[in-house]
Amino acid sequence: MQSNTPSPIIVAENLTKVYASGRIQVQALRGVSFTVDPGEFVAIVGPSGSGKSTLFYLLGGLTRATSGRVVIDGVDFASLKDAERTRLRKHRIGFVFQKFNLLPTLSALGNIELAYEVSGRSEPLDRVYLDHLCEILSIQGRLKHRPSELSGGEQQRVAIARALVTRPAIVLADEPTGNLDTKNSDAVLHMLQRSNKELGQTTLMITHNPEAAAIAGRILHMRDGEIVHEEAGSRAWNTGQTDGQKTAAGASASV
Ligand code: ADP
Repeated sequence: MQSNTPSPIIVAENLTKVYASGRIQVQALRGVSFTVDPGEFVAIVGPSGSGKSTLFYLLGGLTRATSGRVVIDGVDFASLKDAERTRLRKHRIGFVFQKFNLLPTLSALGNIELAYEVSGRSEPLDRVYLDHLCEILSIQGRLKHRPSELSGGEQQRVAIARALVTRPAIVLADEPTGNLDTKNSDAVLHMLQRSNKELGQTTLMITHNPEAAAIAGRILHMRDGEIVHEEAGSRAWNTGQTDGQKTAAGASASV
């Protein structure tokens, strides 16, 4: 009998990472395991030094684990040669970083279009999809401007459009609100949540900020290189839940 449960799109299996410099070794991850289903919005939260960035780089195939496995959409990163890994990354994952990293000489639209070009897609950019994306991110009126003419929040929203323009199955965001004030931070989180819901990608966000993490459907807490706790997020912005329901959804369980 076939199960209706979707196969996870991200599998992290007993991941460890040891950094060695000379005789000093730092165990950044100590056996991290979890899965993420397609369409989920998962936040990974924890204090500085708990291993969040290390986990982010492993999940994005940007570095290799010391031991354990990362399986993205059924493909084990470890089984791939470097070029295949890069290809999987380009086609399946969109990255959003704390620093927006937009090219200063190009307009917002130029930055988004360039990301599509370098992704190596054979089909032309779908302008209807791009318009929809820009509408979700509220940047339609800012596309001709260069990054220096945009606020921090607008730059991050352009960076999110750049990550999503290739329609990646997975968005990995590393402290996407780390450089933003509260108002811009709220707007960016809201739009990340909206794009997750409306465009159907799977979103995994690293943050040290519990308030930012609360917008996710599920929150994994890290400490000292391990996931120590898992809980439901409130997703209050897009569920229309009452406070009572939010409390119920926020009821936590240890892993
Ligand atoms: P977080 O993102 O939660 O702040 P990190 O993954 O950056 O945590 O770091 C986890 C641990 O690994 C910390 O003790 C950090 O000092 C160490 N670390 C991170 N990167 C390196 C590196 N390139 N070389 C040596 N140690 C590192």
